[in-house]
Amino acid sequence: MIRFESVVKQFGDNVVLDHLDFEVAAGDRVTLIGPSGSGKTTILRLLMTLEKIDGGVVWVKGEPLSHERKGSKLVPASEKHLRKVRQSIGMVFQHFNLFPNMNVMENLTEAPIHVLGRKKSDAEARARELLAMVGLSDKEKAHPTQLSGGQQQRVAIARALAMDPDILLLDEVTSALDPELVADVLDVLRQIAETTDITMLIVTHEMNFARDVSNRVMMFDKGRVIEQGPPDVIFTNPKEERTRKFLDAVL
Ligand code: ATP
Repeated sequence: MIRFESVVKQFGDNVVLDHLDFEVAAGDRVTLIGPSGSGKTTILRLLMTLEKIDGGVVWVKGEPLSHERKGSKLVPASEKHLRKVRQSIGMVFQHFNLFPNMNVMENLTEAPIHVLGRKKSDAEARARELLAMVGLSDKEKAHPTQLSGGQQQRVAIARALAMDPDILLLDEVTSALDPELVADVLDVLRQIAETTDITMLIVTHEMNFARDVSNRVMMFDKGRVIEQGPPDVIFTNPKEERTRKFLDAVL
Protein backbone atom coordinates (compact mmCIF):
# COMPACT_ATOMS: atom_id res chain seq x y z
CA MET A 1 0.00 0.00 0.00
CA ILE A 2 2.84 2.37 0.96
CA ARG A 3 6.53 1.99 0.25
CA PHE A 4 9.36 4.37 1.07
CA GLU A 5 12.38 3.53 -1.05
CA SER A 6 15.64 5.20 -0.04
CA VAL A 7 13.77 8.41 0.70
CA VAL A 8 15.82 11.50 1.50
CA LYS A 9 14.32 14.68 2.91
CA GLN A 10 16.30 17.63 4.14
CA PHE A 11 15.56 21.14 5.30
CA GLY A 12 18.69 23.11 4.45
CA ASP A 13 21.59 21.16 6.00
CA ASN A 14 19.28 19.24 8.32
CA VAL A 15 18.90 15.73 6.85
CA VAL A 16 15.58 14.61 8.33
CA LEU A 17 15.06 11.37 6.40
CA ASP A 18 18.25 9.59 5.48
CA HIS A 19 17.68 6.97 2.77
CA LEU A 20 14.62 5.71 4.59
CA ASP A 21 13.13 2.35 3.59
CA PHE A 22 9.92 0.84 4.90
CA GLU A 23 6.73 -0.78 3.69
CA VAL A 24 3.17 -0.76 4.94
CA ALA A 25 0.78 -3.40 3.64
CA ALA A 26 -2.95 -2.87 3.04
CA GLY A 27 -4.81 -3.04 6.33
CA ASP A 28 -1.69 -2.53 8.46
CA ARG A 29 -1.92 -0.31 11.53
CA VAL A 30 1.54 1.05 12.09
CA THR A 31 2.58 3.32 14.95
CA LEU A 32 5.61 5.55 14.41
CA ILE A 33 7.57 6.32 17.57
CA GLY A 34 10.84 8.09 18.19
CA PRO A 35 12.39 11.17 19.72
CA SER A 36 11.22 14.65 18.83
CA GLY A 37 12.67 15.66 15.48
CA SER A 38 13.21 12.10 14.24
CA GLY A 39 11.06 12.77 11.16
CA LYS A 40 7.70 11.14 12.00
CA THR A 41 5.52 14.10 11.05
CA THR A 42 7.63 14.69 7.95
CA ILE A 43 6.79 11.16 6.77
CA LEU A 44 3.05 11.86 7.04
CA ARG A 45 3.44 15.24 5.32
CA LEU A 46 5.37 13.65 2.44
CA LEU A 47 2.53 11.16 1.96
CA MET A 48 0.03 14.03 1.84
CA THR A 49 2.34 15.74 -0.71
CA LEU A 50 2.58 18.71 1.66
CA GLU A 51 6.36 18.40 1.30
CA LYS A 52 8.56 17.37 -1.63
CA ILE A 53 11.20 14.67 -1.31
CA ASP A 54 14.86 15.28 -2.16
CA GLY A 55 15.70 11.70 -3.16
CA GLY A 56 14.27 8.21 -3.49
CA VAL A 57 10.67 7.26 -4.22
CA VAL A 58 7.47 7.16 -2.18
CA TRP A 59 5.02 4.60 -3.58
CA VAL A 60 1.31 4.68 -2.78
CA LYS A 61 -0.92 1.91 -4.12
CA GLY A 62 1.76 0.92 -6.64
CA GLU A 63 2.22 4.42 -8.05
CA PRO A 64 5.13 6.75 -7.31
CA LEU A 65 3.97 9.94 -5.59
CA SER A 66 6.35 12.27 -7.38
CA HIS A 67 5.84 10.79 -10.86
CA GLU A 68 3.11 9.37 -13.02
CA ARG A 69 3.12 6.86 -15.84
CA LYS A 70 2.79 8.06 -19.42
CA GLY A 71 2.89 4.91 -21.54
CA SER A 72 6.07 3.12 -20.48
CA LYS A 73 7.72 6.32 -19.17
CA LEU A 74 7.62 7.97 -15.75
CA VAL A 75 7.16 11.74 -15.92
CA PRO A 76 6.96 14.28 -13.06
CA ALA A 77 3.54 14.17 -11.40
CA SER A 78 0.93 16.62 -12.60
CA GLU A 79 -1.34 18.43 -10.14
CA LYS A 80 -4.17 16.14 -11.33
CA HIS A 81 -2.16 13.01 -10.43
CA LEU A 82 -1.29 14.45 -7.01
CA ARG A 83 -4.96 15.27 -6.35
CA LYS A 84 -5.92 11.68 -7.19
CA VAL A 85 -3.30 10.23 -4.84
CA ARG A 86 -4.30 12.66 -2.07
CA GLN A 87 -7.91 11.56 -2.37
CA SER A 88 -7.02 8.08 -1.22
CA ILE A 89 -5.34 9.45 1.91
CA GLY A 90 -7.05 11.13 4.87
CA MET A 91 -5.07 13.00 7.49
CA VAL A 92 -6.03 14.15 10.96
CA PHE A 93 -3.78 16.81 12.48
CA GLN A 94 -2.86 17.70 16.03
CA HIS A 95 -4.74 21.02 15.79
CA PHE A 96 -7.96 19.75 14.13
CA ASN A 97 -7.75 22.25 11.21
CA LEU A 98 -11.51 22.39 10.66
CA PHE A 99 -12.82 25.04 8.27
CA PRO A 100 -13.71 27.76 10.83
CA ASN A 101 -16.33 29.50 8.71
CA MET A 102 -18.35 26.32 8.05
CA ASN A 103 -20.61 24.35 10.34
CA VAL A 104 -19.99 20.68 11.09
CA MET A 105 -22.16 19.36 8.25
CA GLU A 106 -20.47 21.72 5.77
CA ASN A 107 -17.04 20.65 7.02
CA LEU A 108 -17.96 17.02 6.30
CA THR A 109 -19.59 17.53 2.90
CA GLU A 110 -17.38 20.22 1.29
CA ALA A 111 -14.77 17.88 -0.19
CA PRO A 112 -17.09 14.95 -1.06
CA ILE A 113 -19.28 17.37 -3.05
CA HIS A 114 -16.59 19.55 -4.63
CA VAL A 115 -13.73 17.07 -5.03
CA LEU A 116 -15.51 13.73 -5.48
CA GLY A 117 -18.56 15.22 -7.21
CA ARG A 118 -21.06 13.53 -4.88
CA LYS A 119 -24.68 14.66 -4.77
CA LYS A 120 -25.36 16.93 -1.78
CA SER A 121 -28.02 14.57 -0.41
CA ASP A 122 -25.66 11.56 -0.63
CA ALA A 123 -22.81 13.48 0.99
CA GLU A 124 -25.12 14.58 3.81
CA ALA A 125 -26.43 11.06 4.36
CA ARG A 126 -22.87 9.74 4.65
CA ALA A 127 -21.93 12.66 6.94
CA ARG A 128 -24.83 11.76 9.27
CA GLU A 129 -23.63 8.16 9.48
CA LEU A 130 -20.16 9.35 10.37
CA LEU A 131 -21.40 11.88 12.93
CA ALA A 132 -23.38 9.08 14.59
CA MET A 133 -20.23 6.97 14.65
CA VAL A 134 -18.22 9.69 16.40
CA GLY A 135 -21.10 10.45 18.79
CA LEU A 136 -21.92 13.94 17.48
CA SER A 137 -25.27 13.55 15.74
CA ASP A 138 -26.63 16.57 17.60
CA LYS A 139 -23.85 18.91 16.38
CA GLU A 140 -24.59 19.09 12.63
CA LYS A 141 -25.29 22.81 12.74
CA ALA A 142 -22.62 23.77 15.26
CA HIS A 143 -19.60 25.82 14.25
CA PRO A 144 -16.11 24.65 15.30
CA THR A 145 -15.76 27.43 17.91
CA GLN A 146 -18.86 26.08 19.69
CA LEU A 147 -17.25 22.65 20.18
CA SER A 148 -14.72 21.37 22.70
CA GLY A 149 -11.29 20.33 21.41
CA GLY A 150 -12.27 16.67 21.70
CA GLN A 151 -15.47 17.25 19.74
CA GLN A 152 -13.58 19.20 17.07
CA GLN A 153 -11.10 16.36 16.75
CA ARG A 154 -13.93 13.82 16.36
CA VAL A 155 -15.40 16.01 13.60
CA ALA A 156 -11.96 16.12 11.96
CA ILE A 157 -11.81 12.31 12.04
CA ALA A 158 -15.31 12.07 10.53
CA ARG A 159 -14.29 14.59 7.87
CA ALA A 160 -11.26 12.50 6.90
CA LEU A 161 -13.45 9.39 6.64
CA ALA A 162 -16.06 11.21 4.55
CA MET A 163 -13.65 10.93 1.60
CA ASP A 164 -13.59 7.11 1.95
CA PRO A 165 -9.80 7.00 2.16
CA ASP A 166 -7.78 3.79 1.86
CA ILE A 167 -5.16 5.27 4.17
CA LEU A 168 -5.63 7.31 7.35
CA LEU A 169 -2.72 9.33 8.76
CA LEU A 170 -3.02 10.39 12.39
CA ASP A 171 -0.53 12.96 13.62
CA GLU A 172 -0.54 13.24 17.42
CA VAL A 173 -4.29 13.70 17.33
CA THR A 174 -4.70 13.79 21.10
CA SER A 175 -1.71 15.85 22.14
CA ALA A 176 -3.50 19.22 21.97
CA LEU A 177 -6.44 17.95 24.07
CA ASP A 178 -7.18 18.32 27.77
CA PRO A 179 -6.65 14.90 29.38
CA GLU A 180 -10.35 14.30 30.06
CA LEU A 181 -11.14 14.66 26.33
CA VAL A 182 -8.55 12.18 25.12
CA ALA A 183 -10.46 8.97 25.89
CA ASP A 184 -13.44 9.76 23.63
CA VAL A 185 -11.15 10.47 20.67
CA LEU A 186 -9.16 7.29 21.23
CA ASP A 187 -12.40 5.28 21.54
CA VAL A 188 -13.51 6.55 18.13
CA LEU A 189 -10.17 5.58 16.61
CA ARG A 190 -10.30 2.14 18.23
CA GLN A 191 -13.75 1.66 16.71
CA ILE A 192 -12.47 2.63 13.25
CA ALA A 193 -9.59 0.20 13.64
CA GLU A 194 -12.01 -2.58 14.63
CA THR A 195 -14.73 -1.96 12.04
CA THR A 196 -12.83 -0.94 8.89
CA ASP A 197 -9.85 -2.22 6.95
CA ILE A 198 -8.33 1.23 6.46
CA THR A 199 -4.54 1.26 6.50
CA MET A 200 -3.41 3.48 9.38
CA LEU A 201 -0.16 5.30 10.09
CA ILE A 202 -0.22 6.70 13.59
CA VAL A 203 2.15 9.12 15.28
CA THR A 204 1.30 9.15 18.97
CA HIS A 205 2.70 9.33 22.46
CA GLU A 206 -0.29 7.31 23.75
CA MET A 207 1.48 3.99 24.05
CA ASN A 208 -1.56 2.09 25.39
CA PHE A 209 -3.52 3.21 22.36
CA ALA A 210 -0.63 2.17 20.08
CA ARG A 211 -0.60 -1.23 21.77
CA ASP A 212 -4.38 -1.63 21.31
CA VAL A 213 -4.74 -0.66 17.68
CA SER A 214 -1.46 -1.25 15.91
CA ASN A 215 -0.03 -4.49 14.61
CA ARG A 216 3.43 -2.95 14.20
CA VAL A 217 5.52 -0.30 15.88
CA MET A 218 8.39 1.37 14.03
CA MET A 219 11.04 3.17 16.06
CA PHE A 220 12.72 6.07 14.28
CA ASP A 221 15.94 7.78 15.08
CA LYS A 222 17.90 10.23 12.96
CA GLY A 223 15.74 9.67 9.91
CA ARG A 224 15.87 5.87 9.84
CA VAL A 225 13.89 2.95 11.22
CA ILE A 226 16.16 1.46 13.88
CA GLU A 227 13.78 -1.25 15.09
CA GLN A 228 10.29 -2.54 14.35
CA GLY A 229 7.95 -5.31 15.40
CA PRO A 230 4.63 -6.11 17.10
CA PRO A 231 3.81 -3.68 19.95
CA ASP A 232 4.12 -6.36 22.63
CA VAL A 233 7.66 -7.12 21.54
CA ILE A 234 8.82 -3.53 21.04
CA PHE A 235 7.25 -2.23 24.25
CA THR A 236 8.32 -5.07 26.53
CA ASN A 237 11.52 -6.36 25.00
CA PRO A 238 13.18 -3.88 22.63
CA LYS A 239 16.52 -4.92 21.19
CA GLU A 240 17.99 -1.46 20.71
CA GLU A 241 19.32 0.60 23.59
CA ARG A 242 17.95 3.76 21.97
CA THR A 243 14.43 2.28 21.87
CA ARG A 244 14.71 1.23 25.52
CA LYS A 245 15.78 4.74 26.55
CA PHE A 246 12.98 6.35 24.56
CA LEU A 247 10.35 4.04 26.04
CA ASP A 248 11.68 4.55 29.58
CA ALA A 249 11.06 8.26 29.07
CA VAL A 250 7.51 7.98 27.68
CA LEU A 251 5.95 4.89 29.30
P1 ATP B 1 7.89 15.57 17.07
O1 ATP B 1 7.74 14.28 17.82
O2 ATP B 1 8.53 16.65 17.89
O3 ATP B 1 6.65 16.04 16.39
P2 ATP B 1 8.92 14.47 14.57
O4 ATP B 1 9.63 13.18 14.72
O5 ATP B 1 7.52 14.43 14.05
O6 ATP B 1 9.00 15.30 15.92
P3 ATP B 1 9.38 16.25 12.37
O7 ATP B 1 8.31 17.21 12.75
O8 ATP B 1 9.15 15.36 11.21
O9 ATP B 1 9.81 15.36 13.61
O10 ATP B 1 10.68 17.13 12.15
C1 ATP B 1 11.93 16.56 11.79
C2 ATP B 1 12.97 17.65 11.67
O11 ATP B 1 12.68 18.47 10.53
C3 ATP B 1 13.08 18.60 12.85
O12 ATP B 1 14.44 18.86 13.07
C4 ATP B 1 12.36 19.84 12.38
O13 ATP B 1 12.88 20.98 13.00
C5 ATP B 1 12.63 19.83 10.89
N1 ATP B 1 11.55 20.46 10.09
C6 ATP B 1 10.30 19.99 9.94
N2 ATP B 1 9.56 20.79 9.12
C7 ATP B 1 10.40 21.80 8.75
C8 ATP B 1 10.26 22.95 7.91
N3 ATP B 1 9.10 23.21 7.27
N4 ATP B 1 11.33 23.76 7.77
C9 ATP B 1 12.50 23.50 8.40
N5 ATP B 1 12.70 22.44 9.19
C10 ATP B 1 11.68 21.60 9.38
